Amino acid sequence: MERSITVLGAGSVGVGTALHLQQRGWQVTLIDKAKPASETSFGNAGVINASSFIPYNNHHLWKSLPHYLLNNTPQVRYSWAHVVKEFPWLLQFLKHANKKATLETSAALNQLCAGALDEHRALMQRAGNMHRLSERGWLKVFRTTEGFDTNGFDGSLYKQYGIGVEALSADEVYDLEPSLNRIFRAGFLLTDSAQVNNPGELIKEYAQQFVADGGTLLQTNINTVTHKNDQFILEGEQTLHATRLVITAGPWSADVLQPLGYKVLLGVERGYHQHFHPQGDAVLNRTLHDVDAGYIMAPMEAGIRITSGVELAQRDAPSTPKQLKQVIPRAYEAFPLEGPTKDPIWRGARPTLPDSRPIIDKAPAHEKCWMAFGHQHIGLMSGPITGKLLAQLISGEKTDIDLTPFRASRWVKLRS
Ligand SMILES: Cc1cc2nc3c(=O)[nH]c(=O)nc-3n(C[C@H](O)[C@H](O)[C@H](O)COP(=O)(O)OP(=O)(O)OC[C@H]3O[C@@H](n4cnc5c(N)ncnc54)[C@H](O)[C@@H]3O)c2cc1C
Repeated sequence: MERSITVLGAGSVGVGTALHLQQRGWQVTLIDKAKPASETSFGNAGVINASSFIPYNNHHLWKSLPHYLLNNTPQVRYSWAHVVKEFPWLLQFLKHANKKATLETSAALNQLCAGALDEHRALMQRAGNMHRLSERGWLKVFRTTEGFDTNGFDGSLYKQYGIGVEALSADEVYDLEPSLNRIFRAGFLLTDSAQVNNPGELIKEYAQQFVADGGTLLQTNINTVTHKNDQFILEGEQTLHATRLVITAGPWSADVLQPLGYKVLLGVERGYHQHFHPQGDAVLNRTLHDVDAGYIMAPMEAGIRITSGVELAQRDAPSTPKQLKQVIPRAYEAFPLEGPTKDPIWRGARPTLPDSRPIIDKAPAHEKCWMAFGHQHIGLMSGPITGKLLAQLISGEKTDIDLTPFRASRWVKLRS
């Protein structure tokens, strides 16, 4: 069929891409080894936030680095084996922790974050799952009075990009969240922030809509992708052929691209979550970042979800949820939690490129192959907008924004 295309990977980015291609008249086949949103897009904190454009490897990282090197903080932990194996990635990641790169990446990511909520709303309207969204802002709370410096670097970028921030006294924090234990001294509310109550179900429902609208969803593992006679051959549990291919395989994207002759400097930042029952009638109204303690607490359908910081370890190495274990007592200090639910501890791997910007581009050496991955900490929110931009590019339309900051040649090289 002339307008047919295959999308490999059905997380937030792949499903967003499939829906936007479908909207443009493409006959889309969406492939995943599991059900849609079973991996990284399943277990995140569910935040859709206009202000998440400042990269983690910003130039202030150097101040915290000596602390992180102790390898016992809830914010960052690392495995030495991983550091040695992924040294080229780590070196580039640290090289980008300078002011120039921070400003460039912030400007680029701002373009994704600013439109993220509108793009989700549009998909929610299409899928009929608007009930999953609440728009009560994102609350950052501090246990000491050294809270958010609205005149500092983040504050000045927030002003530059028109991000709504309200500084809060302790009393104002408790007015917003009366169930919190009285341990916080100050806070601020990011008013342009929303959250969803079940990120995995949200994306699954988008995928169901894609199928209801005539898309094909295949659950099959693809071991290798090659290109021959103008066809992509996807081999695994079954052999499939595609004339056009989009790679949206999140943290597996480098593996998928390898047999096509590409080497990609893609790293992972692992993270964990666990669900808890609230005590009695305690209610958390919005997602909360306990900044000093280093975790996020999000009200979800399954309970209160506690998510952990960054673990630099091999993507598939066994779970070592030390950071989660470290922050759970701190979460009990903050909120009346009853105990964990029966859900197991979840682990995921944020796909991260060294400049903390995703790739949204055509493949350098294949006319009919495109790619979108590397959405690090913001892939749940920016999946739909990424999908729209990529669908515009593939369909030969003018893209809503200039995609130069997201070009593949930054980190995708041809293997010699
Ligand atoms: C603890 C934590 C908290 C987070 N909080 C937030 C947040 O609040 N807001 C936010 O926006 N982001 C958040 N993120 C980041 C976000 O979850 C990721 O950026 C996003 O899910 C990445 O989406 P993706 O579609 O690229 O990858 P994935 O969701 O991992 O999807 C990739 C898909 O490709 C499939 N696949 C891979 N290889 C193959 C193959 N060979 N054959 C078939 N299928 C294949 C996989 O099965 C998978 O479904 C968080 C992440 C973590 C870990």
